Amino acid sequence: MDARINDPFFVLFTPDSEWTQAERDEVARRVAANDAIERTESIERAKQAERPACPRCSGRGVMDEYAHVMNGKCFLCGGSGFAD
Ligand SMILES: [Zn+2]
Repeated sequence: MDARINDPFFVLFTPDSEWTQAERDEVARRVAANDAIERTESIERAKQAERPACPRCSGRGVMDEYAHVMNGKCFLCGGSGFAD
């Protein structure tokens, strides 16, 4: 049953009445899983936005002028770009 719902044309153009219950359940499960991922990512972004940027590399995690040493990785923040 996965084969049909992996086909975008089926998902977009097949009327609801032709979907099996298993297909509806699977789509609902995937939508919920995707929502959970997006929630986690936006929480992560919000957390990061509140963190102070590293003063040495200005939050970039690397310094171009030191590209010849460890690919320019900032030693103050360890490449994370954050001061904490
Ligand atoms: Zn840094």
